Amino acid sequence: MSHSMLKNIWLPYTQMQTCNSPIIAKKTQGSVITLQDGTELIDGIASWWTACHGYNHPYIANHVQQQLQKMPHIMFGGIIHEPAICLSQKLAKLLPGDLNKVFFTESGSVAVEVAMKMAIQFWLNQSKITKTKILSFYGGYHGDTMATMAVCDPEEGMHHLFKDVLPHQHIIPLPTTKELKQQFRNFLENHHHEMAAILIEPLVQGAGGMLFHDPDLLLFLRRQANHYNILLIFDEIFTGLGRTGSLFACNQADVVPDIITLSKALSGGTMALAATIAREHIFNGFLSEHENHALMHGPTFMANPLACACANASLELFNQYDWKINITHIEAQLSQELSACLQLDIVKDVRVKGAIGVVELYKIDKLNLLKTKLLQHHVWIRPFRNIIYLTPSFTITTAELSKLTRAIFDVLSH
Ligand SMILES: *Cc1c(COP(=O)(O)O)cnc(C)c1O
Repeated sequence: MSHSMLKNIWLPYTQMQTCNSPIIAKKTQGSVITLQDGTELIDGIASWWTACHGYNHPYIANHVQQQLQKMPHIMFGGIIHEPAICLSQKLAKLLPGDLNKVFFTESGSVAVEVAMKMAIQFWLNQSKITKTKILSFYGGYHGDTMATMAVCDPEEGMHHLFKDVLPHQHIIPLPTTKELKQQFRNFLENHHHEMAAILIEPLVQGAGGMLFHDPDLLLFLRRQANHYNILLIFDEIFTGLGRTGSLFACNQADVVPDIITLSKALSGGTMALAATIAREHIFNGFLSEHENHALMHGPTFMANPLACACANASLELFNQYDWKINITHIEAQLSQELSACLQLDIVKDVRVKGAIGVVELYKIDKLNLLKTKLLQHHVWIRPFRNIIYLTPSFTITTAELSKLTRAIFDVLSH
């Protein structure tokens, strides 16, 4: 029997038949979620990695309040506004190379779809009509819409269930070893004429399993993409904006993709906002006397002024405290405290990169039970498949982070 509060609600990734105890959040502050019954939870995942500076940051709240007085929303077709101008300039300045042309959307999935559409149309505008496929990797996650599901890990993207409706894309293993690199080259040798772009989450494949790879791999992809005349898209929706210890993951490899996608932490976890940013040569590929060479996309709420105001404030916050030092501390604390889990038989691996801590189990049998137990420790942690992970805000305190790591150890060892 379902709880009456859930009478009209359909939750994501949830079997509603067995979901009967809704958790009702009342307010948030810093890294704390207060529930309706007064219980306080330490948030270990910063609301799906969005609240990078912690909840209710006064600097962001102040900016959005000021914007609310002036103009909550206006369409972006044929008219622009100061918050979007400011944000586009900030992003162009922060991003490496000539990633200068910003296209705004309102969700990560759509930002990835726009990147794919951009890549394909870039070639179509040059009459290269065969380059329409996107190459992606096992373990990848790029969104839940039809086109993005097709480039997710086949299992994660439920390709078997949707096999007759998803567009067919090539998905191959990440070229992490010498053999796989050769396999990758062979693949491109045979298929480069049909490939528009290579799509990857640089350094960390997030929702697909919190898998890490070395910066070298990105350099390899950049070289291969150049060699075979294929675009390179970095989906930094998870890794972007500090999470891996540098402002963008691509900074660690010194590689500039042709297109990059951002969302999640872009507005500091305050409002829905995403961006697809292209390099100059991609943008120039759409300049023409032909009207239909323009990028044919335009979400109704794109570049929403309130969301842009949040993002402007959030980006300014990166200059107002030493977030890199915070992440260095978080990384060291996660490594030290989570390593205790390695002594448990059920634990396969513990790994940490930046403000990402992962405990990988051989198997989680009772995921819902595990979630309940974590809640009993007054922490908000959302394990999935065989993974328990922490992606706290960069402003979490040492004591709060300890509470999170201890809860994981206690739950796993009992
Ligand atoms: C979350 C995520 C997306 C999808 O973003 P939504 O806003 O949920 O549509 C795409 N790519 C990556 C890497 C993500 O982490």
